[in-house]
Amino acid sequence: MSNATNPLATSRIAVLGYGSQGRAHALNLRDSGLDVVVGLRPNGPTWHKAVADGFKVAEPAEAVKGADLVAVLTPDMVQPTLYKEAIEPNIKPGAALLFAHGFNVHFGQIKPRADIDVILVAPKGPGALVRSEYERGRGVPCIWAVHQDVSGHAEAKTKGYADGIGGGRAMIIQTDFKEETETDLFGEQAVLCGGASELVLKGFETLVEAGYQPEIAYYEVMHELKLIVDLFYEGGLAKMLQFVSETAQYGDYVSGPRVVDAGTKARMKEVLTDIQDGTFARNWIAEYQAGLPNYKRLKQADLEHPIERVGAALRARMPWLQPTAPKPAAAPLKKAG
Ligand code: NAD
Ligand code: MG
Repeated sequence: MSNATNPLATSRIAVLGYGSQGRAHALNLRDSGLDVVVGLRPNGPTWHKAVADGFKVAEPAEAVKGADLVAVLTPDMVQPTLYKEAIEPNIKPGAALLFAHGFNVHFGQIKPRADIDVILVAPKGPGALVRSEYERGRGVPCIWAVHQDVSGHAEAKTKGYADGIGGGRAMIIQTDFKEETETDLFGEQAVLCGGASELVLKGFETLVEAGYQPEIAYYEVMHELKLIVDLFYEGGLAKMLQFVSETAQYGDYVSGPRVVDAGTKARMKEVLTDIQDGTFARNWIAEYQAGLPNYKRLKQADLEHPIERVGAALRARMPWLQPTAPKPAAAPLKKAG
């Protein structure tokens, strides 16, 4: 959609936060011809980056004043305070408050004023991809939702924002805050961040404890995961099955369900229940407010796992991963966000 036809063509958009999503959204919206101001803490780590990218940068409260749409793209756990201190006292009646994840609204941590629109646009990809796809004239699919419509134009604003960041060039799918929040949390916990990393670690430990070399184990269970995931991404199970050997396929059919079985699925349902009934959100908020003691301990344990030592040594010998190396001519490996 060109600027002239975008429902936000005459709107001032305040993007609060300039991290993974914030930077990509701000740059794409500006390149779509929209008027963007970035809101950040003056001593924050990304202020200079936003200035260097040529944006008007202001403290969050200042950025919110006069904005017709406020995009909240700071970490989820700082959003409730940011809302209370900078947004609630300053956002114009009839303006839109936009999120990229429904956590705080869905779990009641932010109770938006009754006189504003509350909307959601969540790209299904990391910020770096949202930006690089836009630069290539394409876009990352987005899901969108309207939680509160006081202006009568909430849906048009939501779609205008999705268009402005490039999502409209790909695909946009309607959802609601509950579905976006619960499925996003479930995916990252059970399958993506949590499930995949545990699968890799348990596979690595199994091979090393059986006496195999850690370097060989690393290649088999972590490095090669990318090849499989890329095939899923490009063509689903069918493409994966087409590209691996018959032996690998047979092993998949008979051994995959032994590792990930009905018990695993039952525990996935427990994880989902904890998300749905608010147990996970309550625990995570309490953990954050206590200064992240368990988060820090568990993160340290991940970082000290033997797979990390062997992985660092092996990756240092992969020239295509080194940032200074010239890119190979064909099919460069690209790290996600
Ligand atoms: P991030 O951690 O990459 O960036 C956060 C930004 O907020 C930084 O610029 C930081 O300096 C700034 N910031 C931190 N505290 C602040 C404060 N108190 N006031 C003002 N600015 C502050 O965050 P992110 O990963 O881009 O996540 C932003 C939102 O997007 C979250 O709601 C997240 O759930 C959602 N989201 C993220 C992704 C992703 O791929 N990272 C994908 C979809 C949705
Ligand atoms: Mg893990």
